[in-house]
Amino acid sequence: MNYLNKKTVEDIDVAGKKVLLRCDFNVPLDANGNITDAKRINESMKTINYLLSKGAKLILCSHLGRPKGKVDPKFSLKPVAEYISKVLGKEVKMAEDVIGESAQKITSSLKEGEVCLLENVRFHDEETSNDPEFAKKLASLADVYVNDAFGTCHRAHASTEGVAKYLPSACGYLILKEISTMSEVLNNPKRPFISILGGAKVSDKIGVITSLLEKVDTLIIGGGMAYTFMNALGYSVGTSLCESDKLDLAKNIMASAKEKGVKLLLPVDNKVGLEYDPNTEAQIVDADKIPDGWMGLDIGTKTAQLFSEAIKGAGTVVWNGPMGVSEWERFANGTIAVAKAIAESGAISIIGGGDSAAAVEKLGFADKMTHISTGGGASLQLLEGKPLPGLVALSDK
Ligand code: AMP
Repeated sequence: MNYLNKKTVEDIDVAGKKVLLRCDFNVPLDANGNITDAKRINESMKTINYLLSKGAKLILCSHLGRPKGKVDPKFSLKPVAEYISKVLGKEVKMAEDVIGESAQKITSSLKEGEVCLLENVRFHDEETSNDPEFAKKLASLADVYVNDAFGTCHRAHASTEGVAKYLPSACGYLILKEISTMSEVLNNPKRPFISILGGAKVSDKIGVITSLLEKVDTLIIGGGMAYTFMNALGYSVGTSLCESDKLDLAKNIMASAKEKGVKLLLPVDNKVGLEYDPNTEAQIVDADKIPDGWMGLDIGTKTAQLFSEAIKGAGTVVWNGPMGVSEWERFANGTIAVAKAIAESGAISIIGGGDSAAAVEKLGFADKMTHISTGGGASLQLLEGKPLPGLVALSDK
């Protein structure tokens, strides 16, 4: 899919118009409702500032958490309105609902350069079920729709896909950055092109592996998904994550890599634990020597070195998924080593959202990466070449 033919905020006239801007304000809150990490809001500010500078009447819309279709004050977007008010130095009017009386009243009286925020769109079941009536009502609040919530573009929800059917639409700067960086890398990668895949399951990443095999020079597989491949090679993997119904698939992938001349790197040693527990007894063993009753929870030191060496010479690196249970300090070393190697490689680097992005940020390598995606699922789907409904729905240039 080529999304670069989609209209951007710069292609539409917004002066004096009510613009519904779908953002991803799904920020973590502490028990007192304070925002503990405002990164997602900060990343939306470029589009917000642009629209306001062009005289839009701005209606912000987002989800927060999983209120499961019910109004739940715990998931109110009020703290977000307060935060944006401070950043902008002007009031962000908070609606008490999404499409109800309060939202209608506030949005209809907005003046140029003013901002309001609708309540959590997931207070309605109709959001995730992409109910056309709900989408239509949401659309009726505005004249134009802009989507900048990349992290939800892989889902056809009312505020991402449904609403775009009823209004002229465009993408914001955040989405533009995501699609332009990813298109550049996938269509014209600086070689050697290396992709590193990790995370829990092979089954979640089959599509991505298959699609990347067509493009990369080297494919590195670590994390929980590596054990299915190791088992397919005939190694015993103890109690490690292993999808026994995917062994043939793993064999086919390895054969296909060979046929296409893609170098496939798997762990040569692993850090194994006795139990799935952050403090479990641990040891490093070679890939073909995982003892019965032990589970692989990280790549080992030799593997970290092997992967780092490969990454060193890369022209382009695309990374998605941790090399082990990186949430636990004892099993985070492999993920740290990969993050460090990418940061030091000087390669064009794209980090998928989720755990790999969190590791890069926690380690302070974020500014060394070309692009850290704001959406794990959405960026995987882009890599896979599968359509993202929230992008497909936007108006073409
Ligand atoms: P994903 O969402 O597929 O990228 O997977 C991320 C999750 O995979 C993280 O929560 C990790 O803890 C988990 N993970 C990575 N490696 C392993 C492993 N060897 N065993 C169990 N879980 C793992």
